[in-house]
Amino acid sequence: MMVYGDFVLPMKERRIIKNGAVIVENGEIVFVGKEDEAMRFLPEEKIGGKGKVVMPGFINAHNHLFQAILRNLAVDMVLLDWLRTSIWPMLSSFNSDEMKKAVRLGILEAIRSGTTTLIDNHYGGRFYDEVADELISSGIRGVLARGGYEINAREELLEDRDRIISDTERLIKKYRGKLTVAVAPMHPCFASKELLLMAKDLSERYNVPYHTHTSESKEDQELVKKVHGKTDVELLYELGILGPRYHAVHGVYMSENEVKLMAASRANLVHNPISNMYLGSKAAPVPEMLREGVNIALGTDGPASNNNQDMMTSMKVAALLHKSSKQSPTAISAWDVLEMATVNGAKALNGNFGVLERERRADLIVLDIRQPNTSPVHDPVGTVVYCATYNNVDSVIVDGKVLMREKKVLVYDEDKVIEEAEKAACSLVERARSRYGLRFKFEELVE
Ligand SMILES: [Zn+2]
Repeated sequence: MMVYGDFVLPMKERRIIKNGAVIVENGEIVFVGKEDEAMRFLPEEKIGGKGKVVMPGFINAHNHLFQAILRNLAVDMVLLDWLRTSIWPMLSSFNSDEMKKAVRLGILEAIRSGTTTLIDNHYGGRFYDEVADELISSGIRGVLARGGYEINAREELLEDRDRIISDTERLIKKYRGKLTVAVAPMHPCFASKELLLMAKDLSERYNVPYHTHTSESKEDQELVKKVHGKTDVELLYELGILGPRYHAVHGVYMSENEVKLMAASRANLVHNPISNMYLGSKAAPVPEMLREGVNIALGTDGPASNNNQDMMTSMKVAALLHKSSKQSPTAISAWDVLEMATVNGAKALNGNFGVLERERRADLIVLDIRQPNTSPVHDPVGTVVYCATYNNVDSVIVDGKVLMREKKVLVYDEDKVIEEAEKAACSLVERARSRYGLRFKFEELVE
């Protein structure tokens, strides 16, 4: 298969190949270079062409797919209140069928927006197998970060630490070779030291990522100090948890010293700018971390705090947030955020994808840039980061398999997925309402 276009962005050494092509054989990249040289492979199947950009697919490094049917239920709220009065009671009310339909809608949206790898941080003690099975059957490269609450959360969502660890181990073994399962206590303020250390042991034994919300909001930092007597990063460093397998999800309230600890331990940051802004947090110290050489991946966070999964919007917002908060247009560049959304996510997962070069797995996307919002193309990287949206995504290929071709999703009946998710959302909200007497602000305005 040849995937080709006006520009190929391999995401290696910031190269831009004009009239470039990628040759894929058996799910692996065997050639990246000029289109005329690629013709010697005599490709039978071709994807792309004039007016197209070819690049690695996006790696959405943090998500909660079940929230796809919860978006905009509770808007304009403080993080911990939002969790307590909306996300947690809704999560407790899901049945298995609604979970599958919610996750399917989330994956459909991810594919449409050019995501080829997705870390889904699922939590609440139930339905991990359903989420994993949906990820695998969709063809997307899925990572299930098996979340768990041990303390300080709603009663029905709590699990004891032995169960969190043994169930994570079960999932790691069950899905080995099909999908990566990461260990993921939800946040140090929702976990004992013992759980945090047991998770570290599991992550080391199976060489899987340790993916945890870290320093997300002012409130969780107050709570973690009450529970552990120090901030997340100080605690994690002291416990020896910060390291190359660690994904510090958010890292908004990190001090200068904590940034240095992240760099020294080679931990990864997963930056979720839209979610942070939506929940009223300040800008994470991303320019500082870039300077210190911290690997920074990009995520959307769950659709209930974003409120979509468009990685291109996330890239643009990331760039704008840091330019604005530093009052400097050079605080961060288009290349910086494009790397966060692709190759850096692959580094955080220690994965053989996220870069277009020989012997890597073929996870790539084609963008249609011959559109009013992306023409003309002077600087293809500026075009992708500052002009494109998910509507420009033309084709999506994961492990050499085409999931979307010329804007048609091949792995789902799209109308059916949307319709079923809408029905699941209605039945879920009704159940949660009668069980918990929930009332949402928007309802007062609907006649
Ligand atoms: Zn999250």
